[in-house]
Amino acid sequence: MSRREYPLRFQCKHPGCAESATYRYSTRRDLSESFELRHYGSGKGWLCLRHSEPDRVLSADNPTTHFEVVSDERPHGRYFGHNGLVTGPGFLAYASDLPAGTKLIITARIELPYSKVEESNSRNDNGSQP
Ligand SMILES: [Zn+2]
Repeated sequence: MSRREYPLRFQCKHPGCAESATYRYSTRRDLSESFELRHYGSGKGWLCLRHSEPDRVLSADNPTTHFEVVSDERPHGRYFGHNGLVTGPGFLAYASDLPAGTKLIITARIELPYSKVEESNSRNDNGSQP
């Protein structure tokens, strides 16, 4: 026997955006007391990641993102922000393996296929290397 679900769906409130999110709850009460209903319901609206965090979205106009966090020592361990381990494609960083005060610098950069010639020309113009 399948259990009933209580879905809550929002469409991004950014004009023209078709992104949506559906949250599902086990009970009507879970839905009515949900974070999502309190924060996005009653006309407040919801924004997709593309429109809530546009600086994180890589694009031709935003080809590089940058994030930095410094580890700190706490009574129960060493952390980068709220995390003892930070991971992403190509790396792992355990805060406990490194001294407190270590700065973790994460950069993501895209190279569009049609921009390689353009980019290489601009590097030659100013003489710098990547
Ligand atoms: Zn959106």
